[in-house]
Amino acid sequence: MALLKKRCVTRQIKLGNIKIGGDAPIAVQSMTNTYTQDVDATVSQIKRLYDAGCEVVRVAVPDMESANAIRKIKNRLKKINDNEIGDEGDEIYKENSGIDIPIIADIHFDYRLAIASAESGADGLRINPGNIGEKWKIKAVADCAKSLNLPIRVGVNSGSLEKDILEKMGNTAQAMTESAMRNIAILEDLGFSDIKISLKASDVERTVEAYRLISTMTDVPLHVGVTEAGGLFAGITKSAIGIGMILADGIGDTIRVSLTRDPVEEVRVGWEILRSLGLRKRGPEIISCPTCGRCKINLFDIATKVEEALLRCPLTIKVAIMGCVVNGPGEAKEADIGIAGGDGVGILFKKGEVVQKIPQDKLVETLLEEIRKLVH
Ligand code: SF4
Repeated sequence: MALLKKRCVTRQIKLGNIKIGGDAPIAVQSMTNTYTQDVDATVSQIKRLYDAGCEVVRVAVPDMESANAIRKIKNRLKKINDNEIGDEGDEIYKENSGIDIPIIADIHFDYRLAIASAESGADGLRINPGNIGEKWKIKAVADCAKSLNLPIRVGVNSGSLEKDILEKMGNTAQAMTESAMRNIAILEDLGFSDIKISLKASDVERTVEAYRLISTMTDVPLHVGVTEAGGLFAGITKSAIGIGMILADGIGDTIRVSLTRDPVEEVRVGWEILRSLGLRKRGPEIISCPTCGRCKINLFDIATKVEEALLRCPLTIKVAIMGCVVNGPGEAKEADIGIAGGDGVGILFKKGEVVQKIPQDKLVETLLEEIRKLVH
């Protein structure tokens, strides 16, 4: 039986330079955790996210200053180059000369912030019509988004469901879909259909159930994620299981992993989820052994260095980082290239065959050099 179900067909929307939904690839997105009005810090973080493979970035807009900063951020990103800000990964693989990444403005409560963000150059808006208030305010946002061709994501969160829905249905997956359908209807009644929707709960069960339900009710493209997933271990586990189950059901057009960490790590986990399911690949797949009593090198440190150096490498090869020369090459036979540590001297191997002996302190350098040769 196939692991993945056929992808559910959704209507396609355009978000800046990328398409979401329909037959478009499932996009990886994240959100900055800088103060948006701090243009330097926000531009720097967006560049790091972009280098790690982020395809859509959301910024918080809690005030007018943040809304107005979007224009400055976009202008700075357009002109950015690698000399300006420190890089994520080895600069040899990709030179940034201008970054074009869709920016979504995340708005709560104040419709004026949504309009100001749109006019400031945001590529999309994330609102919850339920907390924007009166219909005329929602209409003002929808009209503005329509005139600028911007999609709106309706972000339904189990923590902020409408009171009447909660009273009628409790805090359930059904209540989340009821809220989503109500919000979609509000926008569609205003003649606005360029919509994307997310239904997030902090537990996997409700999240998966909500996405399964909504996918049978609408063709609106779906932004998938488990919200407030937690720190590294809980967050990665919940996201991998929750997002993974939803994607395996053929549901989802864009994903966001939510971690209480550097958002760059969210992007890396997002890509690993897509890769693990065979949905998309980006850059090398690093495989490494868990180490055991035969390992005489600091493999944890080496694996981290290699992973970070290859963040921008375009090759979709398998790279192995193994703890010992005796078993490493055999255990990682399917790797295109790899290194294994020894006692003072390690080895470089390709497809399980030893090709070179290397002094221990030159292992990482030699591996990265060999991979660069494959690119150029
Ligand atoms: S490759 Fe060597 S060090 Fe790593 S787990 Fe296998 S036997 Fe242990």
